[in-house]
Amino acid sequence: MSYISENLENVRNNIKTSCDEAKREENSVSLIAVTKTYGVDVINEAIDCGVKDIGENRVQEIMEKYDFVKPVRWHLIGHLQKNKVKYIIDKVELIHSVDSFDLATEINKQAGKIGKIQKILLEVNVSGEESKFGIKPEECLELCQNISEEFENIKIEGLMTVAPYTDDTELLEKVFTDLKGLSDEISKKSIKNVDMNELSMGMTNDYPLAIRCGATMVRVGTGIFGKRDYTNG
Ligand SMILES: *Cc1c(COP(=O)(O)O)cnc(C)c1O
Repeated sequence: MSYISENLENVRNNIKTSCDEAKREENSVSLIAVTKTYGVDVINEAIDCGVKDIGENRVQEIMEKYDFVKPVRWHLIGHLQKNKVKYIIDKVELIHSVDSFDLATEINKQAGKIGKIQKILLEVNVSGEESKFGIKPEECLELCQNISEEFENIKIEGLMTVAPYTDDTELLEKVFTDLKGLSDEISKKSIKNVDMNELSMGMTNDYPLAIRCGATMVRVGTGIFGKRDYTNG
């Protein structure tokens, strides 16, 4: 067995255990294999092992790899610049990192051009760390309402956050629980074209906890592919 299939089995077992602990169905959590920095060969190997969703955080990398990767659902999980939306609009299943009305405007425009309803998540900076992208929790409802009112070619599917990189489980649990609370609050407002179906939270360091707090999508890179090497750019 290759290290990838072994790691994947491990991650899937952890997902199952966490779902059991939280009394949730195992299929209520999707695994997004985060493939940034990894080559197409290992990505295709993961797809051969049953991976259905992959996440990249840079537009450039999606474009370089897209034609060489087997059929799979692509997720953009990193910061997106407005001028790059046009390159990926026909390629991505879900954009996890929408953090402004301006960006939504451009996504709506490009999606309209190709007759697509683009599914998005709003990225929320729950922890308030300055280094993090994302809107403030208190801005979230209003952005949902504005996007809902203005844009025909966008469907909001939920929220996403990147938690601090820490072993402080209490802090992590607070971040995840806060995002879940925000999602429940927005869900109650029944806004047109806004569903809070998805909560994208949890990475290699913390996905079991995120699942216990309600995550429906976990984004796992290192836990599947091993340590990243950034030296090739
Ligand atoms: C890199 C990345 C991940 C995966 O991180 P790991 O610690 O390798 O699992 C998840 N989410 C985002 C937004 C990332 O950029």
